Amino acid sequence: MASEKEAAIAAVRSDGPTIFDKIINRQIPSTVVFEDDKVLAFRDIAPQAPTHIVIIPKVKDGLTGLNKAEERHCEILGHLLYVTKLIAKQEGLDDGFRVVINDGPNGCQSVFHLHLHLIGGRQMNWPPG
Ligand code: 5GP
Repeated sequence: MASEKEAAIAAVRSDGPTIFDKIINRQIPSTVVFEDDKVLAFRDIAPQAPTHIVIIPKVKDGLTGLNKAEERHCEILGHLLYVTKLIAKQEGLDDGFRVVINDGPNGCQSVFHLHLHLIGGRQMNWPPG
């Protein structure tokens, strides 16, 4: 079985459509927990904790990953963080949670459409693996 890093390296790293476009377009099902005009949040298919939610911009606008962020993205980046807080509240993560952005092969990114992971419902450890 490929390691997380091998999977990340093998992933298509282009500006093209990803599995998340199919989730946005409802071409494949997902469990949506939050949606507004700018973002969509749904439960991760392979949860790493009792609560594991993926939060994405509906329009990628070149943001294959955080490393592609430009000044014009500041509004959507701030909005993604703010809705993450709203979702944490909605999910009852009152004792804390973790927000993760994996970027590139070393970050184990596997889907090249910027996304935040909201992870909670158990004690986290530090440093991460
Ligand atoms: P990354 O590794 O790029 O940071 O995170 C991508 C995440 O998307 C992974 O945690 C993976 O489990 C999740 N994921 C990949 N494909 C699907 C899918 O089809 N549906 C859902 N709900 N999550 C997915």
